[in-house]
Amino acid sequence: MDNILSGIKPTGQLTLGNYIGAIKNFVKVQNEGETFLFIADLHALTLPIEPNVLHDNSRDIAAYYLAAGLDPKKANIFLQSDVPAHSELAIILQNYLYMGELSRMTQFKDKSAKMKEEAIGLGLFAYPVLMAADIVLYDSKRIPVGEDQVQHVELARDLVKRFNNRYGDVLVMPKAEIAKVGARIMSLSDPTKKMSKSDPKGDIYLKDDLEVIRKKIMSAVTDMVGKVKYDPVNQPGVSNLMTIMSSLSGKSFDEIEKEFDGKGYGDFKRAVADVVCNELAPFKARYEEVIKSGLVDEVLSRGAKRANEIAEKTLKRVQKAVGLYSK
Ligand code: ATP
Ligand code: MG
Repeated sequence: MDNILSGIKPTGQLTLGNYIGAIKNFVKVQNEGETFLFIADLHALTLPIEPNVLHDNSRDIAAYYLAAGLDPKKANIFLQSDVPAHSELAIILQNYLYMGELSRMTQFKDKSAKMKEEAIGLGLFAYPVLMAADIVLYDSKRIPVGEDQVQHVELARDLVKRFNNRYGDVLVMPKAEIAKVGARIMSLSDPTKKMSKSDPKGDIYLKDDLEVIRKKIMSAVTDMVGKVKYDPVNQPGVSNLMTIMSSLSGKSFDEIEKEFDGKGYGDFKRAVADVVCNELAPFKARYEEVIKSGLVDEVLSRGAKRANEIAEKTLKRVQKAVGLYSK
């Protein structure tokens, strides 16, 4: 069985996009191979963040992982910063990725677009280097992510090819896996933009009360067409709501179109809100239980122990391959 790896940055409150595009898929794959799910706290430092916010968000993601049904006996849940090999490997791998390809990364372009050059940290630019280290450390072939992270996984693949061509069969080739539906949930207020936890416009937060979630869905931007139809170009808002409904209910776009044929957007939005609230109500209750149980720190330290075992082996292999060893 192939190893599986993914992570989430503790940059803000988790959104419905993170839940549908990432967490829900983690729960499915944990039975299919050893799964490494890290909380990417080092990545969260690439943009300014308050220390207590970073700390609290990190534990919170672990609690949400558990609430979603991730089983710490099957999935290793840990903090990236608890495994020093991530940083050590990134220092080596940075020599095999180039300025040109890093500057073409969409995430870098998006996140640095509104910043003055003097304020853009090297870490934001070098983000894909650390991410490549995250991926290859666990010999993971399968990388379940949302669509926006595919470009970074592709770069990690280029790096593995480059590295193995030079040094032999040292690193395992990873591959991104995205959900058929829901790999890119859009903002409810601007459905041409991805829902992102660090950009609060049009987000549904997993922390939101169900009533707030309902209101947000009822006031989601739609269009003047007046027909429930999957057409992301001309009806991005409606298509996004259909995507949310489909990924949580399992209904196909065809089925949803038929069900709401001749009905207004009000009825449709109410049904979407029902689906979202039905899914999130038990999930939110489990999250509260996890927080009360005080289990998070124990899970994180057990996860880090196992992660360190595997990561150190890979790091040693890489060090040896490039000539960094004493005897
Ligand atoms: P940030 O704004 O800090 O980049 P984010 O919401 O984009 O936050 P990440 O930590 O970058 O979240 O990504 C965690 C995982 O969630 C990744 O697999 C990513 O592809 C996925 N993801 C993020 N946003 C969405 C979305 N809108 N739809 C589907 N998947 C998403
Ligand atoms: Mg992101």
